[in-house]
Amino acid sequence: MIDVEKILIERGAILKGHFLLTSGLHSDTYFEKFRILEDPRLTERLISTVIDKLREFSPDVVVGPTIGGVAVAFEVARQLGVKAYYAERGESGGRVLRRGFKLKPEDRVLVVDDVLTTGKSLLETFEAIKPFGAKIVGAFVFVDRSENFNAGVPLVSLLRVKVKNYKPEECPLCRAGVPLVKPGSSKGTNL
Ligand SMILES: [Zn+2]
Repeated sequence: MIDVEKILIERGAILKGHFLLTSGLHSDTYFEKFRILEDPRLTERLISTVIDKLREFSPDVVVGPTIGGVAVAFEVARQLGVKAYYAERGESGGRVLRRGFKLKPEDRVLVVDDVLTTGKSLLETFEAIKPFGAKIVGAFVFVDRSENFNAGVPLVSLLRVKVKNYKPEECPLCRAGVPLVKPGSSKGTNL
């Protein structure tokens, strides 16, 4: 059995401090998923530990939201021998399948992502799939840091962690004057 948390710490994928999350919440912990996804061999190895569980969903297509979800979807689909589609930001918010990606109503879809916090990216990806009438059979995330998110479908994760998320107006780290860090903001857009 591989120790996912230990690997994430060793790779610098778990950071401690005062962070502004994409969701708008503040947190004492941030997951820099690209410390894992930047290493395709490691990504392959981590996903291989749950691939039998994911195979039980018998998906025809794996769909992941940009940008981390693309790497996860690609590798999960590669190991399952099925197709990978990507859900991108829509022009009027939400997410859409572009690039000629088409689902059939009989398709079984596995939705994947890197880190689950509020569930927004997963739900937006579900919405992008709905117009095609395909069945969402399950979801997979690397790290589930959500509090009580119910995906409405079976959810598999590599690591489930309890971390503290705060609304900005209730954040004790703000009150203590700890500088707020927006991870990745200096290195490009946060998709
Ligand atoms: Zn704060």
